[in-house]
Amino acid sequence: MSSTLQDKDIVAQAQHALSMHQLCDYCLGRLFAKLESGMSNKSRGKKLRAACKQSTKTLVRDCWLCQGLFDELPSFTILITRALEPYEFDTFLIGSKIDEDTIERETSLWGEVGNEHAEPIKVEINRELGKVLETQLHKEVDFEDPTVMVILDTAFDVVTFRLNHYLSTDGTKNTPVLFRKPNGFVRSAGEKDAGDATILEHCTTRVYKSSLLPVF
Ligand SMILES: [Zn+2]
Repeated sequence: MSSTLQDKDIVAQAQHALSMHQLCDYCLGRLFAKLESGMSNKSRGKKLRAACKQSTKTLVRDCWLCQGLFDELPSFTILITRALEPYEFDTFLIGSKIDEDTIERETSLWGEVGNEHAEPIKVEINRELGKVLETQLHKEVDFEDPTVMVILDTAFDVVTFRLNHYLSTDGTKNTPVLFRKPNGFVRSAGEKDAGDATILEHCTTRVYKSSLLPVF
């Protein structure tokens, strides 16, 4: 039988983690990401904290592991939305670079309490951003063959994106191109010959920096 968040050994493992470090709900829950589907890590963390009878919640900004990273999700979504806003594409996929110190802390936590039910922080960041951006951009995440692969460097707030091909109406794969929306007019990415669309580049990357953004 598969484990649940209520199992004694799982609660003991969570208790062990909390006795070693201050962890926010995201980072506590992520240690048990493979248990009980249909719930966010944040919810798993809340549930486990209650099961551990730890009444004091650790805020994200006080979390030993992520050190406030999950509080930045809203500004990351704005950063990505603005970077992609001028362009046309069909589907997207989010990738992220997490700073090495954070990865090291996660690896050391796994060494201390085990990682048999855990997922890496990068996976959670990518998924959470993808969920919000699907709604905001009205585009779908495509794990197999996205038009645009977005890479967010969380340490430096830099967004890079890489273009994949898009499918034309006859189903053939075209050379990657990126169209800028002419004066805000939205055009389908498949309309390659449309008059005033500008082909910006062929399979190159563009980099956007956070300095373009207001401070949140
Ligand atoms: Zn955390």
